[in-house]
Amino acid sequence: MECDKCGADAVLHAAYSGLHLCEEHLCASVEKRVHRRIRDDNLLPKDATPEDPETWVIGLSGGKDSVVLTDILFDTFEADPRVELVALSIHEGIDGYRDESLDACKELTADRDIRHEVVSYADEFDIRMDEVAEDDPKDMSACAYCGVFRRDVLSRYADDLGADKLLTGHNLDDEAETALMNFLEGDITQIAQQFDASLGPFGGDEHGHTRGDSGEFIPRAKPLRDIPEREVALYARLRELPAHITECPHSSEAYRGEIQELLYELEERHPGTRHSIMAGYEKLAALAASEHRSESPNFDECENCGGPTTGDLCRKCGLLDALEAV
Ligand code: SF4
Ligand code: ZN
Repeated sequence: MECDKCGADAVLHAAYSGLHLCEEHLCASVEKRVHRRIRDDNLLPKDATPEDPETWVIGLSGGKDSVVLTDILFDTFEADPRVELVALSIHEGIDGYRDESLDACKELTADRDIRHEVVSYADEFDIRMDEVAEDDPKDMSACAYCGVFRRDVLSRYADDLGADKLLTGHNLDDEAETALMNFLEGDITQIAQQFDASLGPFGGDEHGHTRGDSGEFIPRAKPLRDIPEREVALYARLRELPAHITECPHSSEAYRGEIQELLYELEERHPGTRHSIMAGYEKLAALAASEHRSESPNFDECENCGGPTTGDLCRKCGLLDALEAV
């Protein structure tokens, strides 16, 4: 097959657009969509100056998504002194997995001279995910613990690093899966919380806004959310980026796996399904958010860590207590 733009050998047929694209035109198309998303979500700095730049903290796991995001943001803002990039990686304590992906993070950031910070669950909470998965006092998936701890670390460190924005590498498939899961679970609160009016659709994170210790909301953004997973993977390979591809040994989100398969089949038979799910979902989320705001609960401070909670202890402190009692 030939590239529809230039006639060179095509590396991708995107059924949802009908386009065949060669290596060069696929990469250009991915970059163009990321740039458009940055513009459309109003991410470009408004009041920043070279003397007082914005700090954009990127959650960098070393997987293909966050590696591609970091690389494209670096190329985009390398010559723009109004944006300073900081990569933030989390070491969960998972043998044979995280050390390798951290090597990819180090290589990527060292080559581009990007500031890179690594935070570990061991230092922060005195836990390792390998042990959490084994002890499992709450009888839930490893990812359910891990997600709570990750959000806590990301928001605290984003605040410490003076982040103006917190960016993550979620792609179109991730977003469509999450949308469908929330919808099928009937979780309207979750849908509403995903909408952050300060940044346009989906600036907020999965469990409410990211709030640093200073009490400021740190806007979140997902500039890859228009790019299908397959194209992100191809981009990483074609640009020879140091991405780590092994799956986490504790990854066990069975329900997400089912949704993934379902979406994959739907997309095969009806190209464009993921895009249309997201288009409808964003409108729905905006409606749900305006409804939800009037009835959103008042947050108190966690009596242990001061984080936001509706009870005495926040979720993170509750889980840490349970782990300690094992
Ligand atoms: Fe944590 Fe689950 Fe991701 Fe593994 S797959 S790093 S346990 S969230
Ligand atoms: Zn707490």
